[in-house]
Amino acid sequence: MEIFTNLLKNEDLSVEDLNQLNFAKRISIVKYAYNNIPFYKKFYDSNSFNPESLTNENDWNRIPCLTKNILRESSNDIINPNVPKSRLKSTTTGGSTGEPLQVYFDRTVPLEAFGWRTMSWWGIAPWENQAFVYRNVRKGFRQLINFLMWWPTKRVLLDCSSMSPSDINVFLNKVNDLQPSFIQGYVGGIYDFSKYIKDNGRKLHIPKAIWVTAAPLSESTRKFIEDTLKAPVYDQYGCSEMFWLAAECKNKKGLHVLSDIRHIEFLDSSDEVVKDGEYGDVTITDLENKAFPLIRYKNGDSGRYLVDNVCTCGLPFPLIDKIKGRVSDTIRTPSGISISGAYLTTIFDDYVHLVDGFQIIQHKDYSVSINCILSQGQSANNIGFAKIKNELLKKSNNELEINLKFYNSLIQDGGKLKFVISEL
Ligand SMILES: [Zn+2]
Repeated sequence: MEIFTNLLKNEDLSVEDLNQLNFAKRISIVKYAYNNIPFYKKFYDSNSFNPESLTNENDWNRIPCLTKNILRESSNDIINPNVPKSRLKSTTTGGSTGEPLQVYFDRTVPLEAFGWRTMSWWGIAPWENQAFVYRNVRKGFRQLINFLMWWPTKRVLLDCSSMSPSDINVFLNKVNDLQPSFIQGYVGGIYDFSKYIKDNGRKLHIPKAIWVTAAPLSESTRKFIEDTLKAPVYDQYGCSEMFWLAAECKNKKGLHVLSDIRHIEFLDSSDEVVKDGEYGDVTITDLENKAFPLIRYKNGDSGRYLVDNVCTCGLPFPLIDKIKGRVSDTIRTPSGISISGAYLTTIFDDYVHLVDGFQIIQHKDYSVSINCILSQGQSANNIGFAKIKNELLKKSNNELEINLKFYNSLIQDGGKLKFVISEL
């Protein structure tokens, strides 16, 4: 509990003091890794980076980055040889997006407390009952749930990798019996659950909060879930390699980076830090894990800091924009123009009432389908659709054939809603 109390104390720090704490912890983990782990000594020496010279942000920017490939090849070498093996908790990630990656959590790091702190922003206490919509096969996610189960709370689970209407019905009845304070899970799974409730005119016990993860959350999907389940939906950002990177407060103005335990940077293709407001590759540093330190690791997502960085909630943690997609979530034109997933996930943001969800698919012949689920009472003839299509045409220099299609459901990969699917 002492750790939890200390984390809460950091919420009262001034921005300057928090930045100082963050930088001091960054210097400390880099030096620690260099002095304890031969991999980092070799990696930094071969890139002519000496941690002893690390005194300011410019020095920090010279630290070579870890890529997914480096992590895949060197995962066992990143393990700190000076900690007992019993401190390591292995987890395999990235099954659906490529070759699996092996990473290790440090059992001495209180991931539970990190979770409770964020949930406290949403008015949820750790001992309250919980409901989960998740995919059983994901080990990393199961671990996330396991540590949330540390308190003797009651919880119900719905495995969204294969949800039949009767599975959803059983889950719904359990939720109504248990009356959990919050529901959490994959965006796609919670979306399907909401849709079932709406389509069947069912009633759900109203939770204090719904927390979604594992896929970009479009404003239209957020609105649909909030309208249907009658509770606020909060976006949280983490990846299987590192939980608890950033989360929304009740203001939902952006995601507060948990900068006392994590560091997030956005880098361009030459690994230079981009300006606030500009998109870059998400690059993360774990300030806590000494058993398997990940320092300046590019996790494959794309995002940006918000320019208007002040939130009235009073938290000192800086704000990033919602993570709107993977670096690879782009569509391309025959002449080579690429349109980023970060833009594509926002195309309905000015028309959140039009659709309950959408998906963009680029086919082998470069043509693009925008699959939409029309909101109740809306028409496919709404001028908004034509405007969205025109804007996309303009961005592609009129090179792409774009077709709007209307369906009742979207393509999912085990509850993970993919925004952009490229068949190219
Ligand atoms: Zn805030």
